[in-house]
Amino acid sequence: MNVFVLNCGSSSVKFQIINTDLEMFDTDSDRRVAKGLIERVGKDDAIINFEADGQPPVKTTEPIHDHRQAILRIKKWMEDPATKINGIHSWDDIHAIGHRVVHGGEKFTKSVKIDKEVLAQIEECSDLAPLHNPANLKGINACSEIFGDRIPQVAVFDTSFHSTMPEEAYMYAIPLDYYEKYKVRRYGFHGTSHRYVAYRYRKLLGIPKEKVNIITLHLGNGCSAAALRKGESINTSMGLTPLEGLVMGTRSGDLDPAVIEYLYNKGTGSVADIFNMLNKKSGVLGVSGLSNDMRDLEKAAKEGNHRAQLALKMFALRVKKYIGAYLAELNGAEAIIFTAGIGENSVLMRKMICNGLENLGIELDEELNKQAVGGKCLKISKAGSRIAVWVIPTNEELLLARDTVRVVRDVPRNW
Ligand code: AMP
Repeated sequence: MNVFVLNCGSSSVKFQIINTDLEMFDTDSDRRVAKGLIERVGKDDAIINFEADGQPPVKTTEPIHDHRQAILRIKKWMEDPATKINGIHSWDDIHAIGHRVVHGGEKFTKSVKIDKEVLAQIEECSDLAPLHNPANLKGINACSEIFGDRIPQVAVFDTSFHSTMPEEAYMYAIPLDYYEKYKVRRYGFHGTSHRYVAYRYRKLLGIPKEKVNIITLHLGNGCSAAALRKGESINTSMGLTPLEGLVMGTRSGDLDPAVIEYLYNKGTGSVADIFNMLNKKSGVLGVSGLSNDMRDLEKAAKEGNHRAQLALKMFALRVKKYIGAYLAELNGAEAIIFTAGIGENSVLMRKMICNGLENLGIELDEELNKQAVGGKCLKISKAGSRIAVWVIPTNEELLLARDTVRVVRDVPRNW
């Protein structure tokens, strides 16, 4: 099957076309045949980047006014005889569409085929993710308008992997009414990524799901940690929204909720202004005053910039805190897995995080750590380390494509 994997943000449309099917999963013979990104959707100078495997990339700037127009632009590129995507000549060669949907609330514990009822339920979840779900819905609606019922569409939720968390992990210690009336609870995000690296780990070691007792660290622009018992999420650092937990590129992560009232009373702005600051101007960007990109901060820190050094230390300390918490919750773990932009590439940050955890059984091999960059999958702990440390590159799009196949073929996932 050729699956069109779509990830719509408020002003961006990201896609991949992946050739995959059930019999290809075991041998990992599924292949990405094209990918692309349209940024600044809604503007006259939207930035277009398309790439068919083995072909030079297409980069242009043109007006793209909405998500529908963005998808039509992708279609036009795909159907252009000059494009030459392996196995794809027109939309008739696309067999299914897999959408990334950020929030599935309590309703969606696995990926589902999209119909009118599912659409309405995703809309209901928009309250919980006002920055993300409306954009995901725009993508779904645009595909329905353009392709009608001809191509099945599947929704894969960021939250659903964490639906196995026990009550004591997902409830907040506030009056129960707020959960019952408004569904205020921890949901967790990056589920596709945590699930993917856990699956890869299981395959690398050749062990059954029941033996996967690990901590997964998705450290990218957004960051989250998860504790997995028997391959299932039992806790994760993000909460009702992706603001809670680790220090991130621009998000604060955990902080005393009283800070919000205090700042409000000091006249720093409306509640919305304060939340905008916590989401977009905080994290390592806010602390360093320089950048949300780890590469910039590592360079500045090396040159002696104190605020960059502080941002790095705070980032590492928060991750350590969650490792400690999850080791306690899991009563020990077999492995810690680093993934996403920082987790897969930052030798320094992995070292800072693991440094001083020797007594907990975590011993990094400095040489192996240096080798694990640029998408390499590698065990980076010393041979005698009680807890193994791995770098496993994530591939959320592949999981989205495989889930799409499973749903369309009506085969339940077994991990
Ligand atoms: P992601 O959200 O997974 O795409 O991660 C993006 C982030 O990864 C960037 O903002 C950087 O902070 C970080 N990153 C990417 N490459 C490197 C690198 N070579 N060294 C350190 N950090 C990196």
